[in-house]
Amino acid sequence: MSGIEGKVVVITGASSGIGAATATWLAEKGARLVLGARRKDRLNAVVEQITAQGGSAVGTVIDVTRREDLKRLTDTAVDRYGRLDVLVSNAGTMAVSPFDELRQDDWDAMVATHITGLLNGIGAALPIFRRQRSGQFVNVASTAAYVVKSPMGVYAATKTAVKVLTEGLRQESGPDLRVTLVSPGFTDTEGVGKGGSPETAVALSRQRDEIAIPPTAIASAIGYAIEQPAAIDINEIVVRPTVQA
Ligand code: NDP
Repeated sequence: MSGIEGKVVVITGASSGIGAATATWLAEKGARLVLGARRKDRLNAVVEQITAQGGSAVGTVIDVTRREDLKRLTDTAVDRYGRLDVLVSNAGTMAVSPFDELRQDDWDAMVATHITGLLNGIGAALPIFRRQRSGQFVNVASTAAYVVKSPMGVYAATKTAVKVLTEGLRQESGPDLRVTLVSPGFTDTEGVGKGGSPETAVALSRQRDEIAIPPTAIASAIGYAIEQPAAIDINEIVVRPTVQA
């Protein structure tokens, strides 16, 4: 199956920002969506907006750090639409801070969300993809997976892990599966400057307001990877503001 029309796409972290923009973008092209996040009201708002415009979407409250939640999310796709074509692992948290502040709960959250969360998605979707003999993983990393900037050490480490896991998965994916890494630079979402060190949050928010690109820029990159013919596997896309160093 190529193109986007009719594809069944699961997106984690779809209640705001890049995930919500990707859901809307793909729905406009005829994808059938299963959307996951923790905030029920925000998730429902995205689903309602898509369905009001004639699209097909269902929302499921999940926490990606819980293995059984990812299984429930991918099972929802199979139960409702009969298959699963793409899993977009996008859920993330940018609670960054200098090490000396010892915000260890934030460190744990980034490890759990980006690394365990991604692995939970792979564990849930891979058996379905193998059974179908088709499927695509789209994993959202960051430009922080390519360059570490203080005070983003923990965030960058977890996003580097996303990049490494994606390449490892690609090497084992075989002829039927596609594996794509999408790495955004500064993108205009509520996630920038949310949590972490208050001083860092202010600095990041200011930088976002000055240089960020819209989340649709990332959504269209994800869409580009999905819409390729099955024989073409787009492995890595980096999208950053032109002015971002
Ligand atoms: P948002 O904060 O808008 O989106 C993050 C999404 O992840 C929300 O939908 C949030 O929903 C969800 N989420 C967070 N933790 C969990 C969890 N444990 N379980 C389920 N869902 C979760 O920020 P962005 O759109 O910017 O972030 C999306 C991705 O893009 C992240 O992986 C981020 O690291 C990455 N990124 C963003 C950049 C930027 O500049 N904006 C730059 C580089 C990468 P809820 O709270 O409802 O669960």
